[in-house]
Amino acid sequence: MQYAANTLENHWMPFTSNRDFKSEPRLMVKAKGMHYWNHKGDKLIDASSGLFCCAAGHGRPEITEAVHASMQEIDYTPHFQVGHPSSFELARKVAKITPADLDYVFFCNSGSEAVETAIKMALAYHVAKGEAQRTRFVSRERAYHGVNIGGVSLSGMVRNRETFGAVMPGVAHLRHTWSPDARFTRGQPENGADLADDLQRFVDLYGSKSIAACFVEPIAGSTGVLIPPKGYLERLREICDRHGILLVFDEVICGFGRTGKAFAAQSFGVTPDIITMAKALTNGALPMGAVAVNEKIYHTVTSSALDGAVEFFHGYTYSAHPAACAAGIATLDIYEKEGLFERAAEMSPHFLDRMYDLQGIKAVTDIRGYGMLCGIDLATAGRPGLRGFDATKKLFARGLHIKFTGDAGICAPALVATKADIDEIWRIFKEVFSEY
Ligand code: PMP
Repeated sequence: MQYAANTLENHWMPFTSNRDFKSEPRLMVKAKGMHYWNHKGDKLIDASSGLFCCAAGHGRPEITEAVHASMQEIDYTPHFQVGHPSSFELARKVAKITPADLDYVFFCNSGSEAVETAIKMALAYHVAKGEAQRTRFVSRERAYHGVNIGGVSLSGMVRNRETFGAVMPGVAHLRHTWSPDARFTRGQPENGADLADDLQRFVDLYGSKSIAACFVEPIAGSTGVLIPPKGYLERLREICDRHGILLVFDEVICGFGRTGKAFAAQSFGVTPDIITMAKALTNGALPMGAVAVNEKIYHTVTSSALDGAVEFFHGYTYSAHPAACAAGIATLDIYEKEGLFERAAEMSPHFLDRMYDLQGIKAVTDIRGYGMLCGIDLATAGRPGLRGFDATKKLFARGLHIKFTGDAGICAPALVATKADIDEIWRIFKEVFSEY
């Protein structure tokens, strides 16, 4: 696909250094399986499943055909007081793979919307229970919960506060779980469960009935893959139970097999009250997010309203869009038929062997891996993030696409990756990282 340099000006690109990009564009024009092709015709291996979305590999015809058929039949219907059968089918399929009784599924269009929805569900639940004073939230440093104001407030990233100010009040942040002592630990670090006791400190400080919910990514993905220490999530669950606080797992990255089970909640054996998800729900083919809640929340909220009244005063024009539902159904069918969650668990040891083999490289200062997700820190050179940006471009030039956050590369190949694909990713990493 051709483009003229002067045609790139009008798109203000998200999370992009626009000036740099427009002087040296990296345009993807085709995707299939484990690969992208750029506008120059170069083939690139995709080490980040797009943006952690395309778990079944790119360009799955099953999804394209399902979306096409759905759009030919019905372009759009609202889901306010009317509906379409596909959303109920997709909700049932999601409920089948969520842990315990997280069987009630609300649809939205992105991970960010899933987070806002979960915040409002937590508030609505406590109001319905007669505890409207529970309006505080707890999240964590180095968390990423999307870009809308609630999610920005929950996120533990300094850029959010520098750029957007104090945002939503009443949010307290647990300490993050990265420790220099645990560098190069494969899987869960041994020490650090006691960091969860920060939640108890917030209860002691703010009062036991003021906190609505505690949000964590089971593995913090976008901020560099921080794996929970052994016992940490269990301890959060205990404290939440003791004080009537809802526990929310943001599984926008972890969900759909990334950790070797459908959800990280199952990998770590800890059941939250709410799970947010997006990305691999439709294999990235169409925008969609969802929130799964347990029976207690669904029944408390839905039985709180007068007959005929809307129980949860929330929803999006595009909630459960039939085309996105068709994509979701086709995607979950692929995961099931091809056993991709199990495949991720089987492929993980080879993947982690290769990633941890980078440990000897001078510029590699930490590696954190679990399942099919791995964060690789490069030594900062100059201002933080500069080396990561340089590495992103160098890797791209050598035929590899990856997402860097700051100086941490986040490797998350599709769950269909073969050993040869993983070896190819490892080879290119090794080549480029060794040059620093
Ligand atoms: N939560 C988490 C844990 C995420 O990783 C992301 C995106 N990387 C989001 C929320 C936001 O999702 P989206 O970009 O689809 O709005």
